[in-house]
This record gives sequence, C-alpha cells and structure tokens, in this order.
Amino acid sequence: MPELPEVEALAADLRGRVVGHRIERLDVAAISALKTFDPPPTALHGREITAASRHGKFLDLTAGAPASAVGAAGAPAGDLHLIVHLARAGWLHYRESIPATPLKPGKGPIALRLRLADGSGFDVTEQGTQKKLAAYLVRDPAEVPGVARLGPDALGADLATFAARIRSRRGQIKGVLTDQEILAGIGNAYSDEILHRAKLSPFAISDRLTDAQVGTLHEATREVLTDAVARSVGQGAASLKGEKRSGLLVHARTGLPCPVCGDLIKEVSFADSSLQYCAGCQTGGKPLADRRMSKLLR
Ligand SMILES: [Zn+2]
Repeated sequence: MPELPEVEALAADLRGRVVGHRIERLDVAAISALKTFDPPPTALHGREITAASRHGKFLDLTAGAPASAVGAAGAPAGDLHLIVHLARAGWLHYRESIPATPLKPGKGPIALRLRLADGSGFDVTEQGTQKKLAAYLVRDPAEVPGVARLGPDALGADLATFAARIRSRRGQIKGVLTDQEILAGIGNAYSDEILHRAKLSPFAISDRLTDAQVGTLHEATREVLTDAVARSVGQGAASLKGEKRSGLLVHARTGLPCPVCGDLIKEVSFADSSLQYCAGCQTGGKPLADRRMSKLLR
C-alpha cells in the first residue's frame, strides 16, 4: 500500500507532469470507485490542473475554474478537487499518450482515466478482486470523510503534537501509529520501520511509553519518513515500488538478517495482516506471542 512517502512522490511527479495542463475528460471505468456524484466527472472537462498535493495517504489534484465560467455568471466558479485513496492495490500510471477513445466500464484493472488536452494523461488502476480504491470529486477536500478525520501529518508534527497524539489513545503502539485519525500518513510498512529504528516493541502500550521513548519514536518517525521521501521524490510512478522495497530494513523481510544486529527478522499476525520486527533490536530477544499460532495450537 502506498504510504506518505510514495503518495508525496506521486504528487511531486504529477506537479511536474500535469499541473498547468487542461483536462480533456475523466472516464470512470469502475463505477464503484467514484464515491461522489455531485459534481459529475464532466465538471472537470476543460479545467486546468492547478496543483497536486497530499492529505495523509490521499492524493489531491486541484482543478481550477474553466475559463468560460469565470465571470460568466458574475462570480468565478470555484476549484474542484479530484481526491484518490489508492488503498492496498491501487496505483497511478502516467502516459505520454493516452487513448482518446472513451474508456468502457468493465472488469479490467483501470478504475479511472484522466486525459489531458495535449493527449497525455494517467490511469488509476487497482489490481485484484478486493476493490477498495476510492475517488472523490469535491469542491472542498474536507467533504471527503477520511480526509476530514485525519490527524496531523506524521512528517510535520512537532514533538509536543506527536506526544499528545500518541498518548491520546491507549493501545498497542503499532495500531496507534497506523491510525490515520491519530497521525496521518503511516501504514503497515513504515510503522514496522519506525518501530525498528526506535527499538520499540510493536506491542508496547502507547500511554505507558516514557518521555524518552516518545522522543525517540518521534525522531525515528521523522528520520524514516524523511529518508523515504528523499529516496522516492524524483522517481516516476513506475520505479517507486522497487525503491520502497529496497529501503526497508524489517518490513516484508521475515527470516532475513536484521541489518543492525544480525538477528533473523520475525513475523506475527496483527489486525487483518502481519507485522515484521527484530527481536534483537526491539523486544530484548524475546519473540512476540502470535495470536494466529496460539489459536492453531489450542
Ligand atoms: Zn536487529
């Protein structure tokens, strides 16, 4: 799943490629992916893309008022925002030349296609059968419920804000860090990396962390995300996934040696997925109890 660094890189890539260009049309092939109906997709036609940005893991393309509408009714028409949450299996594919024939609703991986007036554009795709990708066409990003509920951005939060947010909910730190309402932008992969860097157990309880541990966690969060953004920005969408994998020290590396201490990376189930950690670095050498395993043994 794309997290803060990848979505930041996608936004940066779009700023270089599509901002300043006029939209020819937006086709919606996966009807269920578009969560809004007013304004309709045709409201984007003829508008210029004026910005590409990010809210947590949501991508936001701003489309300015169409030239014809400005002043036509006495008042300028406002901006529209095309907001996309790529979920677990969504991605964005920019193309220099995108087919002009309207996209037919169907079962393929393409959910949305945006074609620009110069013939370039991008497809938003989703692989697999679980359709979780969500797109919204709104006048204000806050109309998207998931955006309205976001906590402060994980990369921008200072220590005081970070500490207050982390302690605002009691729970296993892995779950608290990935809760978008606590802090925006961290998912399964970077939370594993952050907790490894901070040498904290993923199952540590958030409101029992000492001030020193919260300070270390804040620093680890900034370092891991800053490093990942630096590696990701400048990469096109096509090479981003490989770049992400190559920078991970523990996530998705079960059974491989920890680059810090050499211990083998372990895995336990967590929520509806699994997490990876290094017992040597994070839990004093003790493996964490796996609920999935204990259920099987019972
Ligand atoms: Zn280690």
